[in-house]
Amino acid sequence: MATETTNESGIIRGGQFIVKETNPQDVFTPEDFSEEQIMMKESVTEFVDKEVVPHKERFEKKDYALTEEVMRKAGEMGFLGVAVPEEYDGLGMGFVSTMLVCDYISGATGSIATAFGAHTGIGTMPITLYGTEEQKKKYVPKLATGEWFGAYCLTEPGAGSDANSGKTKAELTEDGKHYKINGQKMWISNAGFCNVFVVFARLEDDKNITGFIVENDPSNGITLGEEEHKLGIHSSSTRQVFFNDCLVPVENMLAGRGEGFKIAMNALNVGRIKLAAACLDAQRRVISLATQYANEREQFKTPIAKFGAIRKKLADMATSAYVGESASYRAAKDIENRIHIRQEQGDEFATAELKGVEEFAIECSILKVAVSEDIQNCSDEGIQIYGGMGFSADAPMEAAWRDARISRIYEGTNEINRMLAVGMLVKKAMKGHVNLLEPAMAVANELTSIPSFDVPDFSEPLSEEMDMIKKLKKVFLMVAGSAVQKFGTELEQHQQLLIAASDILIEIYMAESAILRTQKNIARSSEEAQKEQIAMSQLYLYHAVKIIQNRAEEGIASFAEGDEQRMMLMGLKRFTKYTNLPNIVALRNTIADKVTDSNAYPF
Ligand SMILES: Cc1cc2nc3c(=O)[nH]c(=O)nc-3n(C[C@H](O)[C@H](O)[C@H](O)COP(=O)(O)OP(=O)(O)OC[C@H]3O[C@@H](n4cnc5c(N)ncnc54)[C@H](O)[C@@H]3O)c2cc1C
Repeated sequence: MATETTNESGIIRGGQFIVKETNPQDVFTPEDFSEEQIMMKESVTEFVDKEVVPHKERFEKKDYALTEEVMRKAGEMGFLGVAVPEEYDGLGMGFVSTMLVCDYISGATGSIATAFGAHTGIGTMPITLYGTEEQKKKYVPKLATGEWFGAYCLTEPGAGSDANSGKTKAELTEDGKHYKINGQKMWISNAGFCNVFVVFARLEDDKNITGFIVENDPSNGITLGEEEHKLGIHSSSTRQVFFNDCLVPVENMLAGRGEGFKIAMNALNVGRIKLAAACLDAQRRVISLATQYANEREQFKTPIAKFGAIRKKLADMATSAYVGESASYRAAKDIENRIHIRQEQGDEFATAELKGVEEFAIECSILKVAVSEDIQNCSDEGIQIYGGMGFSADAPMEAAWRDARISRIYEGTNEINRMLAVGMLVKKAMKGHVNLLEPAMAVANELTSIPSFDVPDFSEPLSEEMDMIKKLKKVFLMVAGSAVQKFGTELEQHQQLLIAASDILIEIYMAESAILRTQKNIARSSEEAQKEQIAMSQLYLYHAVKIIQNRAEEGIASFAEGDEQRMMLMGLKRFTKYTNLPNIVALRNTIADKVTDSNAYPF
């Protein structure tokens, strides 16, 4: 397969992983955290263990004031300002550190995860990144320190996934000093206690919406609906917000007229990768609790942790958390590197950050989908391990499961993000940013050539797995390449096919990230020291291969018939074939031993 080289600066481009081999030394892993990052992680964890965990019951009882109180304390600790430059009273930390704080602050309850994400992400970031100097000076320091809280008003009753279709209107007043905003927003996180909204509204019949910074002043035509009754995240404030002749000074327009959709989409890119981070510690905590329960709970005079059925679950749960961490921090560092390069080339912070994240928008969507579904599965199995107690609101799994559910819906639903991931990749290929065409043609040629019968040397640890990843990339190129050829720009009408291709893309990125992390760590420790990590990388890949086989088959059958179909299915068989099928049960046992011996998620 022809492989793509890195771009001019030697730094990988977003989406390029699908055609490029990555050297394990070039990926960032959680084991690469600096002293400062480890200290930050410990300090955030300590904060959550002290301020959130002991009050979990209150969080389930819709104690909105408690959320506000914890958020204010998080502000005092500096956690709300990690992504804000120092000149606006933030800590100005790098992208990886901002991911890390989001990861560890979010693990104990989805209420804080959502309040934190809405405030620091979509509430503050649009002003930090798109605001004028005056706007930034006026609002960002207050938001970075938690003196003020922010919220983001994009969604409307009639405008959800179709975010640019909102009906909220902004109209310039006769004296030219204000915009008058009228409209209704819904599902607004933090609405109940925020001081400032980022609001999107349309001027006249503009094609695109425009962003505004609107202070929450009830005397200025702003009213709130009642708190929504939600399945989960019970202490996250979610309300409708009504704007009735709300006057906003003209200087509070964010970026230019009609720039709102761009702001909204770019804010979502960051929001998506941070949402993946926000689902990681939730998984670690669920796994640790489920392990402790399984070690203590006895049935048939045996701790249930000794039963194969339970060990399988613990192994799969730990594996998904390990893989999610691997992929999230890999992408975070790629983004951070990209931001640095842009800054070195003269971009100011805001442009560098926006462009850096935008470059990896495909990975952001992949992570949002993958990790939000992992926490859902993980908490579901957590309930199962707890048995009847899992179903009880007095045990922690019930809330974890309900809280996990929202992550598949907000920041763009998982359906939208699945389609975006492939759609953006195809667009990048068309722009020449990622060379998909040549590798796809090489795969097409390979399908008609005689396969090699050489037995490869797989003596190096994870070398067969890396070889499998290369082959899985061919599956993606075969399916997506043929689909693009068949349908051209009509491809977006074939959503089931897009989703199948997206699942293949997602599985490849996740599996490859785990293998690369483990390979990097084997090189700096030993195969023995990474025994369980090797097992997790292999186990995940095995599942990924099965998913990919299934989705590719679905995709191929949807557009190819007769000889063409037979040829592609044969290719699929060749590209998903193991030389040495791993012993999956033994892998799970290796992982489960480590998890149960540690009585917690140990990686
Ligand atoms: C608790 C909570 C907090 C939220 N916080 C905020 C916030 O702070 N600020 C804010 O602005 N919004 C917020 N939202 C709104 C959230 O972003 C939207 O709910 C989400 O974008 C989906 O929009 P929708 O609910 O209108 O669903 P819809 O867009 O109506 O989607 C319904 C279903 O149809 C699917 N669908 C829609 N369009 C397509 C398509 N083109 N192709 C295929 N499938 C499609 C979706 O994937 C979904 O499964 C929040 C929502 C919740 C529930």
